[in-house]
Amino acid sequence: MEIRILGAHLTELKGTRLTSLLIDGTLVVDAGGLTSALSPPEQKKIKTVLLTHHHFDHTRDLVTLAANAGYYWQSQLKIYALRYTLDIVTNCLLDGKMYTNFLEYPSKEKPTLILETIEPYNRKTIAGYDVLAVPAKHSVPAVGYQIISSDGKSLFYTGDTTVGISDQWKHIFPQLLIVEVAGPNKYGDWLKKVGHLCARFLRDELIQFRQCKGYLPRTIVIHIGNPFEQEIKEEVAGVAQELEADISLGYEDMKIIL
Ligand SMILES: [Zn+2]
Ligand SMILES: [Zn+2]
Repeated sequence: MEIRILGAHLTELKGTRLTSLLIDGTLVVDAGGLTSALSPPEQKKIKTVLLTHHHFDHTRDLVTLAANAGYYWQSQLKIYALRYTLDIVTNCLLDGKMYTNFLEYPSKEKPTLILETIEPYNRKTIAGYDVLAVPAKHSVPAVGYQIISSDGKSLFYTGDTTVGISDQWKHIFPQLLIVEVAGPNKYGDWLKKVGHLCARFLRDELIQFRQCKGYLPRTIVIHIGNPFEQEIKEEVAGVAQELEADISLGYEDMKIIL
């Protein structure tokens, strides 16, 4: 399994993109900074997108990806998410008012985007992967995804989440954990209120992971609040040292092979 981090940041600036992961070149998880990271041949290979939740920084490039797929190479893409997420994406991002309605373009019979509902805790084969959606603790309905390849390699990506993700641990058994840290410890109270993590909270959740599972997987931190990157890096390094674990910050175009 090859995991490529297309976007590792909370906001977009020159050199940083919004959250998006690409697995084995074909399966996308969250569509924040997607299209600006990939050439047309790379975009053509994408068949499936999983969304953790509806927030703009995770869904924006559904539109730009659909534009390329719909206008230039007429392929179809399947988008999987909670019903709640799909309803908001349909009504606010893909309603045809701001731009082409890719749920009906080029035709209602063969649209560019096809929406599929996922149910939490219901393991499902999607694009050849064993996919399990597990509810996350965010400010809106959200899930994390465990993704297992046909040769048994496994990843869990939390999506946006705050304290209490340890509820998820009993459902998963990943080789690689991709988590969010949106800001530094000094803003912990505020981050918790808006549904995010800082390094201190991540530490507590990882301790519970180890207690629950007896191991700690390699952990990559994304959804990094851009102005606080250095602070977050130092705080995450402190957690890694304390827990004697492999925890580091992800970055744009980082590739991880499992
Ligand atoms: Zn969010
Ligand atoms: Zn986000």
